[in-house]
Amino acid sequence: MNFSVTILGSGAALPAKNRMPSAQYINCNNRHFLIDCAEGTQLQLRKYKINFQKISHIFISHLHGDHYFGLVGLLSTMNLLGREKELTIYGPEELEALINPMLNYGGSRLSFNLVFVAINMKGKQTIYEDDVVEVFSFPLLHKIPTAGFLIQEKTKPLKINPAMIEAFNLKIEHFKDLQKGKDVILDSGEVCSFEKVTLKPTELLSYAYCSDTKKSIKVAEAVSGATVLYHEATFVSKDQKRATTTFHSSTKDAAEIGQKAKVKKLVVGHISSRYKTNNQHQEEMARFFTNSAVAEDGMCIDLTKV
Ligand SMILES: [Zn+2]
Repeated sequence: MNFSVTILGSGAALPAKNRMPSAQYINCNNRHFLIDCAEGTQLQLRKYKINFQKISHIFISHLHGDHYFGLVGLLSTMNLLGREKELTIYGPEELEALINPMLNYGGSRLSFNLVFVAINMKGKQTIYEDDVVEVFSFPLLHKIPTAGFLIQEKTKPLKINPAMIEAFNLKIEHFKDLQKGKDVILDSGEVCSFEKVTLKPTELLSYAYCSDTKKSIKVAEAVSGATVLYHEATFVSKDQKRATTTFHSSTKDAAEIGQKAKVKKLVVGHISSRYKTNNQHQEEMARFFTNSAVAEDGMCIDLTKV
């Protein structure tokens, strides 16, 4: 099983030398997702050697340009490359009306089915689900309606302990039930408890994305217990006032949310271009949250190793 996040853009709205604006690629047990799609996202996907035709679902947090201005470019390229696989985009309800005319005026019909799903910005809800993963959206506290996303592994099949196969004379037909946590009746007529012959279940992992937002206790509740939380920290704590008035967060705000939510690891991003180096963010995060990192473009977070 694999669960990793590649940061494609860790910067805020104004162009910066070393950071692109918001976009992230997530591979959760071979489900391929993109969260936000700022200007230049397709170039970042190329740069980090991610096959973007694999992406099946895109989640757009809100309609500030630094979170979705790359969509039309990415969709056009997917079309030029002859994509056939359906693509679903989740986002604010106005997104479809913004994107479709830009594609249509160019006169090209997409070679693939493009589906828009409007997110209800009012509460936490499941927006995507299959047998291995569930994706939730939940409201953030920003100037315009904005959603955060939580990608959560679902129950994984238990693994049979190889040493027990011979010891209990287990047959292939027993495996399915045992892996689902059900006891089976052996050929001898004995009941075999699944706990005896399967390995200890591994922890279910989850990834939460919160950008852009002001500090909010409701956000902490929505991401409670996440393995990794990506929370914006556009500003350092000396610029707290600016963070609050612009409906963004400081490093301190992000750390408080991480602590309240009891997440294992905190990664802060959406860094303002006013900071020429990472130094202030890094120094503060080291003080505020032990297991933390400041996002960089190209950073890959392996959730199985957090
Ligand atoms: Zn914003």
